[in-house]
Amino acid sequence: MDIKITEELNNTLKDNGFKEEEIKEIIANAESSGQKLKARDGDISIAKGGAENLTVYAVYSPSELLDVYTHKMSILGLTGGELNEIDYDDASEWACAKCGEIALERNVDMTYMGVTRPGPGLVCPKCNEYYVSDGVAKTLKTAEAILEEKRA
Ligand SMILES: [Zn+2]
Repeated sequence: MDIKITEELNNTLKDNGFKEEEIKEIIANAESSGQKLKARDGDISIAKGGAENLTVYAVYSPSELLDVYTHKMSILGLTGGELNEIDYDDASEWACAKCGEIALERNVDMTYMGVTRPGPGLVCPKCNEYYVSDGVAKTLKTAEAILEEKRA
């Protein structure tokens, strides 16, 4: 898979301390393992990677990298415990590429600097994999900054 990265996006990556190879590796891992979200309507994918203290998401089409976003919060699991039954009222626009299940919009417990709160996640109920959308990641960034400020 040869993913193109526009110069503009590449500059944004550099500004945020990412290497192009790092992002391409996240995508390559997602493609080989199948562990990614795929749009139910279209060919956009979201791959997840990074380290324990920083989760990195790459949004891409088969030909081009579209966006990269991150959060520092760790996702502990579903708020209120595991799902007993799948409720498709919470169906998102995404499906788990690994098992084909529709990803659900469910609250997950997120923890950062000793504070744990529920927040909206995208969950594969079969694989128990958790993802965060780019919009939620923006909100998390603000929450992270507030917690960092309190600590400082
Ligand atoms: Zn799955």
